Amino acid sequence: MDFAEAQKEALGCTKCGLCHSRTQVVFGEGPLNAELFVVGEAPGFNEDKEGKPFRGASGMLLDRLLDSLELGRERVYLTSLVKCKPPGSPPRPPKPSEISACRPYLVAQLAAVDPKVVVALGDLASRVLTGRKEAVSRIRGRAIPLDGRYVFPTLSLTRALYTPADRALLISDFSRLPELLEAERPSTYETLNVTRSPAEREPVQPGLW
Ligand code: SF4
Repeated sequence: MDFAEAQKEALGCTKCGLCHSRTQVVFGEGPLNAELFVVGEAPGFNEDKEGKPFRGASGMLLDRLLDSLELGRERVYLTSLVKCKPPGSPPRPPKPSEISACRPYLVAQLAAVDPKVVVALGDLASRVLTGRKEAVSRIRGRAIPLDGRYVFPTLSLTRALYTPADRALLISDFSRLPELLEAERPSTYETLNVTRSPAEREPVQPGLW
């Protein structure tokens, strides 16, 4: 599935039960040539209302973090593991079956954007994108070479919003991103079968989960 097909399908998707708790699908946004790709857990109330990722207080915190790196939101691709808001207030975390159902859209986004650095925000995104079982607090702030790019797990924006000590850790982690964005890509591409040049890509065989 290419990016355009993924976007078109996702906007009307009913593949998992989260289609019942959303107001609208939040597919993601950003330039398809972005070097930095940020993945959250799931849309929340504000994202669901506006149809765009990272709004409200979390979005403002992310904007401040990106501004501090002189990287505006418009230069970053933003999305989440699942594209529909889970039920509850606050919304519950997405279930493994929901993340799995939504996986082809994230894989299509990653293949199209082919970023150098993927920031995984929070425990779930960290586990899904790195394939590691450790809590994000144990592996945060490390650049993990995977699929020809660096996966960079860090704390969730929500956690940082409510806990000053975690906010300081998140700011510290984000301060490493310019260095990573300047670095050469790691040379392994085997897991996702995504080559660096879009013209050379073969069909994606998802290997993230
Ligand atoms: S979360 Fe993903 S798989 Fe589930 S209904 Fe929404 S778009 Fe479809």
